[in-house]
Amino acid sequence: MKNKEQKKTSLSKRIVSLTIFIDVLFLIIISTIFLFYTFISINSNRNDIVNNQTKAIVNSINGFLGDIKSDANLLAENQAVIDYLNYINEGNDPNILETDPEYHIYYDFQLIINNVVTHQVNDTYNLIFLATEESCLGSTDGCAISNTGEVFMDDQEWFIHERPWFIDLGTDEEIFVAPYWSAEEYYTFTYVKRITVGTETIGYLGIDISLDSLGLVIDSIDRDINNETAEVLVFTDYIHGASLAFFSEEIYSDYFAVDQSAALALDKELGFEDSGLNNLLNNYEADVVVNQKVFDTDYLVTYNDLEDFGWRIIILIDNSTIFSIEMIFAFVLIAIGLLVYIISIILNRRIKKTLVPISKILESIEEIKNGNYDITVNLLENNEIKEIGDAINLMSKEISRQVDLVYDTFAYDALTGFKNISAAKLDINKFVLSGNKKTAICVFQVENIKNINIIKGQIVGDNLLKNISHELKEYLENSEFLYANGHDEFIYIMRDIPSLEYVESNISKILAHFKEPLTIKTIRLEVKFYIGISIYPTDGSVLDDLVKKSDTALYKARQSQSKRYLFYNENIAREISYKAQVSEQLSRTIDNSELYLKYQPLISNKNEMYGFEALVRWNSPVLGEISPNDFITNAEENYMIVPIGTWVLREACNMQVRLKELYGKEFTISVNVSSIQLMQYDFVDIVKQIIKETDISAEYLSLELTESVFLDSTVMIEEKIADLKALGIRFSLDDFGTGYASLTYLRQIAFDNIKIDKSFIDGIFSTDNDTKIVATIVNLVHNLDMMVIAEGVESKKQYEYLKQIGTDVFQGYMISEPLTEEALNAFIKMFYKIAKARRMDVLARK
Ligand code: C2E
Ligand code: CA
Ligand code: CA
Repeated sequence: MKNKEQKKTSLSKRIVSLTIFIDVLFLIIISTIFLFYTFISINSNRNDIVNNQTKAIVNSINGFLGDIKSDANLLAENQAVIDYLNYINEGNDPNILETDPEYHIYYDFQLIINNVVTHQVNDTYNLIFLATEESCLGSTDGCAISNTGEVFMDDQEWFIHERPWFIDLGTDEEIFVAPYWSAEEYYTFTYVKRITVGTETIGYLGIDISLDSLGLVIDSIDRDINNETAEVLVFTDYIHGASLAFFSEEIYSDYFAVDQSAALALDKELGFEDSGLNNLLNNYEADVVVNQKVFDTDYLVTYNDLEDFGWRIIILIDNSTIFSIEMIFAFVLIAIGLLVYIISIILNRRIKKTLVPISKILESIEEIKNGNYDITVNLLENNEIKEIGDAINLMSKEISRQVDLVYDTFAYDALTGFKNISAAKLDINKFVLSGNKKTAICVFQVENIKNINIIKGQIVGDNLLKNISHELKEYLENSEFLYANGHDEFIYIMRDIPSLEYVESNISKILAHFKEPLTIKTIRLEVKFYIGISIYPTDGSVLDDLVKKSDTALYKARQSQSKRYLFYNENIAREISYKAQVSEQLSRTIDNSELYLKYQPLISNKNEMYGFEALVRWNSPVLGEISPNDFITNAEENYMIVPIGTWVLREACNMQVRLKELYGKEFTISVNVSSIQLMQYDFVDIVKQIIKETDISAEYLSLELTESVFLDSTVMIEEKIADLKALGIRFSLDDFGTGYASLTYLRQIAFDNIKIDKSFIDGIFSTDNDTKIVATIVNLVHNLDMMVIAEGVESKKQYEYLKQIGTDVFQGYMISEPLTEEALNAFIKMFYKIAKARRMDVLARK
């Protein structure tokens, strides 16, 4: 699972946001509670005010109307009034003359009625009248007389049955009639009371009251409490379609005295369709305070009915200036926001200041991470963070101490005491490999330390290395430039070299110094170095690269076996990378049929065709034609030689059988076998299998082994060879004379032939020694009952001499180069036609 990289967060920001979050939460809770309480108290306060106002107003009006009513009752029950009415109803003239004996009736009536009128303050009663349905003084429909003695009759177009108050009263006992514009040109309303004796109606009492009087009453009430002004509307006769009798808001005076239907028309005219007077009357809800729009203004509205009088009183208190709870909330939120902003700024500053030491600590930790362990965090304030800082100081000191310790153990090679090259790398790159001064990087490898460790023991090997390093240190002038590189390698850096020859002469001197074997615990050990050298800045500019190149040269020197030291060059690099390519391509050779064989003829000293050596060829589609010299070692290193060798053996045996069939003659086929093949547990089985498969006569198969077989444990190999020899197979010792093989080895394995290496043959005429050696070898080999085959015979002179000293078989360019199957067939034919009759040396080109 992949670890997602975590986003970096700021501690101070976190603390600030957390604090602010809590602040905001706290403020919101507090202000909500506060708002809730204020709202409730404001509301209950207002409700109290509204209720008080309403009570006062309603009481006043109620009192006002009650007074009128009680005055009317007083008069209606007054005997003088009743007497007077009876007098009129008897058809008498209402105006009784002073001279008339009945005059006291009129006088008493006048007295009582004027009493009522005059005791009223402010002339509340404009007029009091008595009316009867009986006609008087020749009138046809009713009769009426006012308190001033004026009589209304039908000759004045006064008809009782047409009077609005009479119609509205109907069969009721009393009525407040809707206001109207009076003949005296003011708004007035009338209270009418039926006057009865027993069950019989004898007449009606009417009182006209100017609306101004009502206005005076209402205006006398204090309607301003806590700056809240109550507007009052009074409607009369709501049963018959209420008419506006009073409105404290004078701008709407047009509405005076109009009834509900007229009010609707006016509403429409003034554009208050939805909030006018009609709407107000329709939304009636008794004795509750409601929020309502009236004339486009928000009001708290209460409705009160004066049931006794059929009046309705509506009280409005302006609500538009009162903040709504939403507004208050919004206001409070803005206030909170501002507060929070200020708090956050202050907090942020404070916290940042508090956290500065932490960032100091972080910087120090970063330093430690970068390898600068010896740091000190200096904090001024003495608090918990300072304690952390002190702890870090302690820790960094300890780390620094430990790192130094580890560095020392890592930096120096325990065995030799030399500094490890990897530990010195940085310094070398910085101080040694700079500028144009040529520097040689010499990598020394002590040969065979592994074998010494195995054979003589680890202690001997270690002591040898110790001694070598000691010697080198003593011997070299600039021994501080000696480094350890792995177990058995040293690196010596030669600075400021004038020339390659200078390096060479120095190296030679070192090698010469180690010519004498060293004695380790009484054991004398030869010291052999292989040395690879690269030059700064020619071969590279950084140590890693240069060491790699020196290693390459060293590898090449070791491969060559003859060279002790080599300078790195492009060719070596190319060769080595070529080798890697060869290894890679080798695995495809067999499946892709990239291999084929060539055959080199071998001729006996009796001019007979002895046989052929099978030599493998590789035609690689990638690398082209490759000589076995260039790939056999490689194939041995990665064991590809096993399948390749098997393939060659099968191919060669088949060829031998084909030639036998073609020429009716048995030729010996020689096949090169690598010691790697021989080491395989199933080698014998494979050979047997191929013999069976190809039907070759085993006596005509010769296997060529090199001296390297003696290096490995010979026991198993001896057995295998014995096994195969038992089948009749021959064995040749190839390349004799090049390696370590001493003649005594020859006794261990019973070879049939010895092939003297070409290098010996080449040297026959160069020095006396070689000539004699070859002759001695031939002799010796013959004494061991083996045949001598001379390889690489190129000249007639060589041939003559070799023949003279008794060589049995010859192979070489003088006779023929290795040939393809086709060319070989031509050669065989040619050999039988021409060469056989004559001497072998005619084949020689010169
Ligand atoms: P070798 O077994 O010593 O084979 C003889 C080599 O000498 C051959 O080279 C041959 O072409 C060359 N030679 C023969 N006469 C002369 C001469 O007069 N003058 C010169 N200058 N050279 C001569 P080649 O074919 O290149 O093979 C080189 C080596 O490769 C062989 O040396 C052998 O060790 C190895 N090799 C070749 N084929 C095989 C194989 O099938 N299996 C194994 N294991 N090794 C093989
Ligand atoms: Ca050979
Ligand atoms: Ca050879």
